[in-house]
Amino acid sequence: MQKPLHWFKHYPVVILLGLLVIVGLFATHALAAYQQITIKANVVNVRQGPGLSYDVMSQANKGETMNVIAQKNNWYQVRLSGDKIGWVASWLVNNTEVSATSNRVAKVTNSFANVRQSSTVDSQLLGRLNQGDAITVLYQQNGWSQIKYNSAVGWVRSDLINLSNQAPTTVQKTSDNQANSDTQNVAIKSVTTQLDNTKLRVGPNTAYQYTQTYPANTKLSYISKRGSWYQVKDTDGNSGYVASWVVTPSEKNEVVKTNATSLSEATIVLDAGHGGRDVGALSTQSKYEKNYTLATVEAVAKKLKAAGANVVLTRSNDTFVGLAPRPAVANQLKADAFISIHFDSSNEANEASGTTTYYYSKNKDIALAKAINNQTQALPLNNRGIEYGNYQVLRDNQRPSILLELGYINSDQDFKFISSPSYQTKVANAVYNGLTNYFK
Ligand SMILES: [Zn+2]
Repeated sequence: MQKPLHWFKHYPVVILLGLLVIVGLFATHALAAYQQITIKANVVNVRQGPGLSYDVMSQANKGETMNVIAQKNNWYQVRLSGDKIGWVASWLVNNTEVSATSNRVAKVTNSFANVRQSSTVDSQLLGRLNQGDAITVLYQQNGWSQIKYNSAVGWVRSDLINLSNQAPTTVQKTSDNQANSDTQNVAIKSVTTQLDNTKLRVGPNTAYQYTQTYPANTKLSYISKRGSWYQVKDTDGNSGYVASWVVTPSEKNEVVKTNATSLSEATIVLDAGHGGRDVGALSTQSKYEKNYTLATVEAVAKKLKAAGANVVLTRSNDTFVGLAPRPAVANQLKADAFISIHFDSSNEANEASGTTTYYYSKNKDIALAKAINNQTQALPLNNRGIEYGNYQVLRDNQRPSILLELGYINSDQDFKFISSPSYQTKVANAVYNGLTNYFK
């Protein structure tokens, strides 16, 4: 039980005002999804707000885990059963290092769950899962979960499945093995923390003590890899181990090698720019870019599927998809190539024309950019060449990735091509030929 605070009784208004000022000084910041905490004290009070002055709404017992929604001062906002929200003191809990971006495992709780191509009930049915089936969840949005399905991706309604509260050890092992084989001939220079409160431990296991904690986006020098842990050093010279699933390795020194030796063996992620409420750029007649990126991606997908490639789309209809989940699809699937399709726009209408191939990483993207750009020379629009582009879909992409601007949508001349099925077919042929050469 809490000891009564006698001074509080005498100066409640002053103290509350003081607390409000203190609370106001620290902005609440949302944590990455799925960070979890485990109660380490025997019993912990869950309070209605982030401080001891708030009323107790329930109690949690030692060993219980909870999902963290936000952090304020030294308090965690957590989600309780029945969807209630409360606050617990951070010093009474352990922060478990659960992946924010890598796979989570889930089980189907409903008697069955339909797997669909996109996150709507009327989208194409890909198959059906049964109660108890274990699945890997890649991403969640608006009541839908994107899952791995038959070596591609699909969507199921989130209310039909139950996410595991545990770190997905089996899944991590699989991805570690893949990561190891991928990194055999690759040198990592540094790693960057994904979450606040990332712990530097004295050994490569959560059982070891930690000596430092870092906020998100802290860069640590890489020393070596031990299993699924990185040995690292911070800028103050402290060295120790961080879990590989809470950090992102730096740009690799060497080219990312694909295992595919032909297009038919490859997994290609095609990304139709924009969608839903994000309409993209406009033609002079106010036609939306999002519709032509999708039509072009559909033409490319058809051509690549006919060649036997495993083609995965980041969207297959007019739905809004944020920027982060697009490269995440390529990363999760360890795609052999990621191609994002857009149309350019100049400040003034009819000011510019032509196609551009963008890459972000010289090491992993440039060979793909060259292979595709060699073929987009055959398109009827002027080829503006290969350029560096700091786009999130490329920047967050660990796989070979490019972004194609296939004409200026606010050029009436370019728009005639952009909106014509015959140009879309020419683009499909160019991408097909480029990828065929790339995988040779
Ligand atoms: Zn665009």
